[in-house]
Amino acid sequence: MAVLTRRNFLKSTAAAAGLHLLPMGHRGASAFAESPPAGGASRPNLLVVFPDQFRRQAPGFMGEDPALTPNLDRFAAESLACTDAVSNCPLCSPFRAMLLTGKYPSANGVTDNCSSRPYMASSYLRANERCLSDVLADSGYDLGYIGKWHLEHPEPPFVDPGPEAWDEYTPPERRHGFSFWHSHGIYDNHLAPRYWVGDSPRDRPTTFYQWSPRHEADVAISYIRNEGGRVRDPARPFALFVAMNPPHPPWDMVPGEYVQRYAHLPVRDLLNRPNVDFDSTSGEVISGIGSAHLYFAAVTGVDHQFGRILQCLADEGLAKDTIVVFTSDHGEMLGSHGRMGKMVWYEESLGIPFIIRWPGVIRPRRDDLLLSVPDIMPSLLGLLGLGSRTPQGVQGIDLSETILGGSGPRPSSALYIQAGAEQFGARGVRTHLHTYAYNRSVRAGSSELLFDNVHDPYQMKNLARRDAATAAGLHREMIAWLERIDDPWLKAGT
Ligand code: CA
Repeated sequence: MAVLTRRNFLKSTAAAAGLHLLPMGHRGASAFAESPPAGGASRPNLLVVFPDQFRRQAPGFMGEDPALTPNLDRFAAESLACTDAVSNCPLCSPFRAMLLTGKYPSANGVTDNCSSRPYMASSYLRANERCLSDVLADSGYDLGYIGKWHLEHPEPPFVDPGPEAWDEYTPPERRHGFSFWHSHGIYDNHLAPRYWVGDSPRDRPTTFYQWSPRHEADVAISYIRNEGGRVRDPARPFALFVAMNPPHPPWDMVPGEYVQRYAHLPVRDLLNRPNVDFDSTSGEVISGIGSAHLYFAAVTGVDHQFGRILQCLADEGLAKDTIVVFTSDHGEMLGSHGRMGKMVWYEESLGIPFIIRWPGVIRPRRDDLLLSVPDIMPSLLGLLGLGSRTPQGVQGIDLSETILGGSGPRPSSALYIQAGAEQFGARGVRTHLHTYAYNRSVRAGSSELLFDNVHDPYQMKNLARRDAATAAGLHREMIAWLERIDDPWLKAGT
């Protein structure tokens, strides 16, 4: 049985265990650290589309959920599709901060969601963080952000009054290089979304009466087309981030044209995973299971709108010169293990799509690369020929050589971090063979979970007691990760 003991002892055992964690400095080794970028002389554009709560199992090409995603299926066939990408801290704000800073939550300060709750007061993106977008802006890119930002701490008088405020304005000096702005902090009325547009002031957001992914695709298309050069600087490459809110709840706010594709399917056909608890005593779970067709309707709608953006790139002759990434901030449990939502180590929560296309440069294929969210920033900078501009302090690994099909690094594990849990709560690791989680509880002491992801892909049998040796090895790998990123959770247990 693995236990947490003294930190320096663990340091030596981690070294003795011969862990194949990658050294922090590895990112500097990219063959593409200096210009030109991998694809040729001029810098490619970058388009990152990341809907919220779009689980890894959802796209049809994955062969898991029965969702209709023809555009993603086609896109994946033209792309590198990572089948084992991990959202290390599966929650909105921590993901977004890891994406932009290349750092784990304890290093960038966004350890929990951003809302007005007192215990979330320190969880917001610092103005002085050097983000992926800051580097791109300083490297000559025109930057656009569309959709959900969710990285500000709401301040009174709240723009979104209520017992708990979520939405907040982002002033231009906190936009980290994004010059085109069509965003909200968080606004969950998907049928009447509200955005701050350009330099509109805090008290002047604009409401649009369209399904938000449809609206955001329209705005993205307008940005890409750039008619008359009025939207962005046509002389510069662009980097556009589109952060759609669906399939995040509320799920009943989705156009009927998508709902009707699923309305005839029995819920047990929709939720085909054997770990779904149809007999749950939780009203939330039963209600969520009953709304599964709406979740998949939103998935199909997001796929449709993503397809419109891709079509625009093709129509404008920009597909070849644009790196396109499709990912998500975390998954959705949808009744698996009797849970809804995210914030847990199970595959349905921490598994995210990561599909990247660069025609003629990235060879289309599937890959089980254990990509972590902080790796995205240094990897994209590596691909763009800007690896040498990766800021000091970035904790992610530059996987650009691996993405390009070379013999680059391949992490042996990815870290799991429970959001908002800085002393108690869970940490864990996901390897190709196993998922391990260590849960430190206030009252009940500590507990371990170990799942064999190969023989038990739905994670229904906890093997922590039966296979204590494997659990102990994974515990050491988890500790090595926590040492590497200097997670205060580790110190709290010693
Ligand atoms: Ca989210």
